[in-house]
Amino acid sequence: MKEAKLVRKKDSTHQSVVALAPGVECGDHDIIIIGGPCSVENMEQMQLTTKELQKAPVQAIRGGVYKPRTSPYSFQGMGEEGLKILAAIREEHNIPVVTEVMSQEQLPMVARYADVLQIGSRNMQNFELLKALGSAGKPILLKRGLCATIEEFVMAAEYIMACGNPEVILCERGIRSFDSSVTRNVLDLGAVVALKQLTHLPVIVDPSHAAGKREFVAALARAAVACGADGLIIECHPVPEESVSDARQALALHDMVELVHNLAAIAEAVGRNVRTPDRINRQFSIIESKSAGHPHTNKHKKVCVNAR
Ligand code: PEP
Ligand code: MN
Repeated sequence: MKEAKLVRKKDSTHQSVVALAPGVECGDHDIIIIGGPCSVENMEQMQLTTKELQKAPVQAIRGGVYKPRTSPYSFQGMGEEGLKILAAIREEHNIPVVTEVMSQEQLPMVARYADVLQIGSRNMQNFELLKALGSAGKPILLKRGLCATIEEFVMAAEYIMACGNPEVILCERGIRSFDSSVTRNVLDLGAVVALKQLTHLPVIVDPSHAAGKREFVAALARAAVACGADGLIIECHPVPEESVSDARQALALHDMVELVHNLAAIAEAVGRNVRTPDRINRQFSIIESKSAGHPHTNKHKKVCVNAR
């Protein structure tokens, strides 16, 4: 880890905050929650998902349009048409969108539409892609490789930073082990704890790809928050069993809303905050009473400050 000079924490207070969009920050006191389907399928699916998830609320919407599939005969993603749907969702609902980029060729186009570029597990050591991300001009959500050691993961982030992009969020999404008969992968929460201590980058957890089954997702999400993760990325769908990819692990939208609400108490127990409608309203009223007589106060900014 000696060579990870840009990623390594300098002291225990060294913590980077990465903004997915103005006011939507990862790595601070608030737990960031990203939700959405594995794949963008059509506008209606994305509209329904976004409207429902904003009730949770989530702070960003995910959806893959370039899909790394095991079989070349499986759905490969909607491509640019899907990017246009994501851009429309962002405009209409004022929420940042996260999507995967699989190659250098796709990078300029994906960066034009998306707020955050996801690098999937299968590309964590695509070094030419990592180098190109240095000048992508967008924050990167870097997922841990299927069989990557913690050191390899850290060094992949080092590539992106060394090439000029300091906006990197690490994502633990489960690693391969000997038993995939019940759980798809092994969620390595030890890595989350280690990465939080060794690096200054925000660390989020994807319990969906780790679990592979929707009934395991909520408990893993709670465990991730309890052990210090800065956020979660979770797959959900209006009709989970009809998802074109990763159907078995997709949560129903109402289950996702419930999960976010249930995370609030866990977050509080470890000195963090999950924004729930209830808390946001409470924060607004505290701020409104504090800022009486200051009509030009930026309420949104104040809510963020107050929530930290
Ligand atoms: C995904 O997020 O849909 C995905 C393919 O993730 P991973 O790269 O972690 O398998
Ligand atoms: Mn998926």
